[in-house]
Amino acid sequence: MWTEIIVPGGPFWLGLSTSHSLQENYEVLGPLGHGRFGRVSLAKHRGTGMLVAVKELVKARVPAHYIVWEVEILQDLQHPNIVQLLEVIESEDKVYLVLEYVTGGNLRQRILRTENHRLPEEEARGVFQDIMGAMDYCHAQGIVHGDLKPQNVLINSQGHTKICDFGVGSRFLPGKEVAVTYGTLKYCAPERLLDRRYEGPPLDVWALGIILYELLTGQLPFNGDKTEMVQTMLSGRCSCPQSISRDAQDLIWNLLCFNPRMRPTAQEVLQHHWLQDAPPPSPEMLPMPPKMAILNVMDGMGFNPLKVINSARRKEMDTFLLLQSQGLQGPPLRIRVKPVCAPEDEDPDEEIASPSTAPAPSSHISQRSASAPVTCTGLLFPGVEPIGRQGGGDSQPPIPIPRTPTPGMSCQPIPAAPRVFCQPGPGASCSSSSPTSTPSSRGR
Ligand code: ADP
Ligand code: MG
Repeated sequence: MWTEIIVPGGPFWLGLSTSHSLQENYEVLGPLGHGRFGRVSLAKHRGTGMLVAVKELVKARVPAHYIVWEVEILQDLQHPNIVQLLEVIESEDKVYLVLEYVTGGNLRQRILRTENHRLPEEEARGVFQDIMGAMDYCHAQGIVHGDLKPQNVLINSQGHTKICDFGVGSRFLPGKEVAVTYGTLKYCAPERLLDRRYEGPPLDVWALGIILYELLTGQLPFNGDKTEMVQTMLSGRCSCPQSISRDAQDLIWNLLCFNPRMRPTAQEVLQHHWLQDAPPPSPEMLPMPPKMAILNVMDGMGFNPLKVINSARRKEMDTFLLLQSQGLQGPPLRIRVKPVCAPEDEDPDEEIASPSTAPAPSSHISQRSASAPVTCTGLLFPGVEPIGRQGGGDSQPPIPIPRTPTPGMSCQPIPAAPRVFCQPGPGASCSSSSPTSTPSSRGR
């Protein structure tokens, strides 16, 4: 069940081909992340300067149907909390998924940056609401993710989350079983560990329970190997720290219900008390991922965007912080820029680049001159010589700053489901200690 299938043989085509190669249209800037199936790099569209994430799938290592499923599923999904597929490029031995670039890293990195590796409950609520909204949408479209975990949840510059990696995603028909063959042990529902027949959506709901537990406690509810995990799940020897609110505990135990038929649907979860009135993400809660507009301005100045991102996360780069803070005030100035330091002098951020990720070939990495002044639309900071307001005398056009899309549902609204949760109380209605609970009245 957990072994990777190696596809033997020479080149084969999946019919995803485009008329151009990756290098023709994109300049690869450096690694962003690495997962089970692919290396993900930051790249810049040569024509527009737009930053994108490129996921590289090597045909000899990833089963062909997984590549095709991931492409087809991503093409079908349009949701503000799901990463958007922009383009697919196929070569003889690889498939490249060109994706919307999400600047704040993944949720695992976010957790690791916090004290005690857990999020304040208010922040966790906002994050979880976004994830649930996306999963409710996926399940309504007949799509199960199959590998939900913090590494597959990205955070954007406004603190909103976007689900990525539908590599093991699968389509399902209501009430019918699915064949999800890959997964991550720690987030696997018991029915999958027991190799029983299972339906798709409850698998995702279980994984969401593990994620919520992890977000709030900094720990996993079940540890050990497959046998140990199933034994712990069956024994109900898992407890929630008292520091978590009652409502949050109630939701966790509903999600981690051993019997998949008793688990709530994503739509029902969205109506749980704990998720009501989740506040929008506030700047104090955020890890300060860079806004795309600022990245573009700094890219125009000669800074390597990848290094800007890493420095911004460490809150180290004066230029970035000044742009970030002044970006909220007044009309932008048109300025002549002399970068205060050469971006290439900074240390690489080990957090993003996985040790197993080979760096992009140096010929692909941007080699702009840091000292050459460039004119762009930006805001005042040390080392910058203002030359007038926007639209002033300089004949060079300003660098276009793309707008970050406003968060909001672009999908079809889904009618509200009846509330099925118990009132908050000392006992959970369904916990891992009651594996033989009877099926719910929903008749699933
Ligand atoms: P895999 O299928 O190999 O697990 P993923 O799609 O999960 O690959 O991507 C691996 C990592 O790459 C993610 O955890 C994240 O850190 C980074 N990543 C993936 N997609 C993006 C994106 N669109 N924007 C920014 N970073 C991304
Ligand atoms: Mg992944």
